[in-house]
Amino acid sequence: MRKVLVLTEAKAGNLRSVSLEALTAAHRIAEGGEIIAVTLGSDATQYANVLGKHGANKIYIIGNKVLDVYTTDAYSQALRQVIDVVQPDAILMPHTAIGKDLAPRIAARYGLGLVSDVIDVQVDNGDVIFTRPIYSGKAFEKKKVVSGIPFATVRPNNIPVEEISGTIEIVHFNVDIKDLRTIVKEVVHKTTGDVDLSEAKVVISGGRGVKSAEGFKPLQELADILDGAVGASRGACDAEYCDYSLQIGQTGKVVTPDLYIACGISGAIQHLAGMSNAKIVVAINKDPEAPIFQVADYGIVGDLFEVIPLLTEEFKKVLAHV
Ligand code: FAD
Repeated sequence: MRKVLVLTEAKAGNLRSVSLEALTAAHRIAEGGEIIAVTLGSDATQYANVLGKHGANKIYIIGNKVLDVYTTDAYSQALRQVIDVVQPDAILMPHTAIGKDLAPRIAARYGLGLVSDVIDVQVDNGDVIFTRPIYSGKAFEKKKVVSGIPFATVRPNNIPVEEISGTIEIVHFNVDIKDLRTIVKEVVHKTTGDVDLSEAKVVISGGRGVKSAEGFKPLQELADILDGAVGASRGACDAEYCDYSLQIGQTGKVVTPDLYIACGISGAIQHLAGMSNAKIVVAINKDPEAPIFQVADYGIVGDLFEVIPLLTEEFKKVLAHV
């Protein structure tokens, strides 16, 4: 039995679903032990209920206003104070921008090894085994922490979330945050779609074949119907058809949606690094030799400006009956 600490994350008033995936992973690691979820910021209390329904036995609420906006300094001070009190046997965090920044810092502070970007967790004969992709998703490695406690970041959209209800204890935890070296004065959000690209279940992605910023409109329309997000290749971003925040790939975001529709994207290895773990890949390209077809489950050879409106119409009809 282990005591597992999970850092949860919310964005714009919504708990990120990767937090629940991390709780499911924690449940496996705990083997009947305690799962402690940590939520930070002045609206942290509102997430307690849902965390409790997904396996958290104890919820540490750290309601300091200074934690409403992420800074490495404030979050690491807060989390370290929790860790010092809880003394967990394992730690999990989401592999998000926050987790990627915070986890190495915490690991270094405690002299722990960190297994980042895990897509699966199993316990084998008492050993915690993490699976993570390597070589841009071409292979997978299994890792066991042999010294110190298991500490990992969990990639969004890979571990099926389980509902696990039990007793919940709420702890309002006071932390002392001082001597901050950075203070965020203002956060300006970019006006991209409503659905978070990293966690979207459906991603409609456009490449250089989309040809203009205007060319992204049919993709956005299809994404809206499927409750998905729009992504892009670096080719499209470099050509200034869209913002770099949409870029998927080795130097962009990594996505693992249930459905990825690549429109006018050739399928360069650097792009595949960001999407090849999608559950179903559909490629629309007018070149039948385009490499993207090698990773696609379904390929449509054709002009995306003809194919996408047809798909949109068909999805509209089907969804009208759901
Ligand atoms: P292209 O390769 O130009 O492909 C456009 C495709 O559109 C073609 O296959 C064409 O047949 C098709 N097409 C054209 N018109 C239509 C139409 N009307 N209908 C249907 N299909 C049409 N790339 C990324 O995406 N993400 C990364 O993170 C990334 N990181 C990189 C890092 C490094 C270090 C380097 C060197 C490169 C990186 N790249 C990355 C760039 C990558 O190598 C490719 O150049 C890029 O992915 C190509 O973008 P594209 O597929 O949109 O464009």
